[in-house]
Amino acid sequence: IIKLENVHKSYDKLDVIKGISLDIKKGEIISLVGASGSGKSTLVRCINGIEKIQGGNIYVNNEKVNSHSSVAGKVGMVFQNFNLFPHYTVINNIVNPLDNVRGIKKDKAKKIAKSLLEKVKLGDKANYYPNELSGGQKQRVAIARALSMEPDIILFDEPTSSLDPQLSFEVFKTIKQLVEEGYTMVIVTHEIKMALDISTRVIFLDKGKIYFDGKPDEFYTHESERLKDFLENII
Ligand code: ATP
Ligand code: MG
Repeated sequence: IIKLENVHKSYDKLDVIKGISLDIKKGEIISLVGASGSGKSTLVRCINGIEKIQGGNIYVNNEKVNSHSSVAGKVGMVFQNFNLFPHYTVINNIVNPLDNVRGIKKDKAKKIAKSLLEKVKLGDKANYYPNELSGGQKQRVAIARALSMEPDIILFDEPTSSLDPQLSFEVFKTIKQLVEEGYTMVIVTHEIKMALDISTRVIFLDKGKIYFDGKPDEFYTHESERLKDFLENII
């Protein structure tokens, strides 16, 4: 679905992504981990087309990414701070983009939004405003909204980092449900345990380069000083 070839990204003189190549196949659940500042958010933003890259190529479904519009809809994104519209109800947070982006008529959009809210177990909150929901519930609305675009892949950037453990667990339960439905996902997270539990693949990033790319069960035993340092610091 996604292919990265020797991608470089810098902010002014600061090199953040230093030559990353990557293939993401349909059905993969990838945990993207690494220390703060290692470039995880930048990398997913590049895949989403939000960031312009200085070198290399990114393809989504064999189509080269060079502007945001070319991936809109194909790549879904869920952020740490939910990014819901505070002055729209929960259901309208989903209905409006369905209408504006996908051009789906209000009646039909409402039906789709309702069923997505049922899916994330928020069917009873459709007419609430975001500030009347818990953090975990807001994040599940954000997930439902991402799903409404019928993306080929969903990128999560620290979806649970502003949530307490119980709410994080609820959000991971929702993500796990999506795993079972066969969605392709990249999850940037510091919750290594929960992430490894649902992932088919783990990528460890350090200072803009990949130092581990493999199966979750090889992650802890991999012989790499950088990975050992990282693991020692988070446990
Ligand atoms: P965290 O785990 O803290 O979220 P991260 O791995 O997501 O970290 P990034 O946000 O990708 O890290 O940042 C990587 C580097 O790029 C950092 O040194 C950061 O200061 C820099 N950076 C990120 N965004 C910008 C920006 N818009 N302008 C300038 N520098 C930036
Ligand atoms: Mg980040």
